Amino acid sequence: MNTLATVRSVLLQSRPRGAPLASDFVVAERTAPQPGDGEMLVQVELCSIDPAMRRWMDAESYGVPIALGGEIPCTVVGRVLDSRCNPHAAGEFVTGRGTVATHCLMRADGYTRCIDPNDPLPLSAHLSVLGTSGLTACNGLLKVGRPQRGDTVLVSAAAGSVGSLVGQIARIHGCRAVGIAGGPAKCRTLLETYGFDAAVDYRDRDVSSLTRAVREACPGGVDVYFDNVGGACLDAALAALNHRARVVLCGMIGEYDTDGATHGIRNLWQLIARTATMTGFLNREHLANCGAELQQLRQWVDQGRLRWQVHEECGLERFHAALLQLFEGTNRGRLVLRVGPG
Ligand code: NAP
Repeated sequence: MNTLATVRSVLLQSRPRGAPLASDFVVAERTAPQPGDGEMLVQVELCSIDPAMRRWMDAESYGVPIALGGEIPCTVVGRVLDSRCNPHAAGEFVTGRGTVATHCLMRADGYTRCIDPNDPLPLSAHLSVLGTSGLTACNGLLKVGRPQRGDTVLVSAAAGSVGSLVGQIARIHGCRAVGIAGGPAKCRTLLETYGFDAAVDYRDRDVSSLTRAVREACPGGVDVYFDNVGGACLDAALAALNHRARVVLCGMIGEYDTDGATHGIRNLWQLIARTATMTGFLNREHLANCGAELQQLRQWVDQGRLRWQVHEECGLERFHAALLQLFEGTNRGRLVLRVGPG
């Protein structure tokens, strides 16, 4: 039994139209919940801030839309305060699905796992390279993109949390990695920090200029395109596909807050002309059974073959400002919100 009196969480007050406003959210306090059978009460240290949250705020979302007045789902790392959930016990550090809050009730679903307190990696690694970003990159690229040695792998939002890992995993698999990112600084980071072979700056380019830039950066064509953005980036990549190329539709951040006004894709014909495939990918369908992938990611981390960055914001009141950074491109790596000790 814990003695905690109240907890605080971010609630959705109104559904955003376009870019979210600060007034769409409120930080509210309520009586601390007690864990029921199969639940544990977790004191949250870090919450992930995910682009998909914007989609979950729409009334018609994939999955379950966030209810008005409801909490914002995310992945968390934190410490168990009280547990009625085998095998987890008070005092353990865990990661799993929670909410943007100081405390949350968690169940042991297939993804929830303990974190070794003696692990030298920071807790934030379990939200980034060893969390959903690493698993999205690994599962999406390897299971859907199926890269072969010598392939050219193109990825958008390449300097971000998922994209930077996609490029590095492609290189580990003997591929040429080409990244699309916003601005010269991020393009330099792709080459100098993450080891990409080439970088394309998409800012201030229309589709034809972007298509030319992608073709120049991929003179042998694109075998796998890992799309995190949609819109003009997707159109330009389609125009550069090779015969039997694979397009992994992982995200469309360029269209999440446009209120339905999407970029009409013009180059879909290329899928026919190149007998290429385009496949939607949802990482959560792979989370219940991700032990082997986590082990592989950990091995690459221990071998120094993966680099990642974490961008930390602090306090529940920063939720709205933090979320906007994903859409403005001002985050540098995995965006997390610190809400507890650390
Ligand atoms: P992130 O890449 O670390 O951050 C988002 C980045 O997107 C920004 O830094 C920005 O970089 C870029 N961006 C924002 N608006 C853009 C626009 N209009 N055009 C082009 N680029 C834009 O975020 P993340 O968490 O790793 O997520 C990346 C993508 O993966 C998102 O689309 C997300 O929804 C998706 N995702 C999908 C799954 C799944 O299961 N399918 C799971 C996790 C994530 P620039 O400065 O380069 O523009």
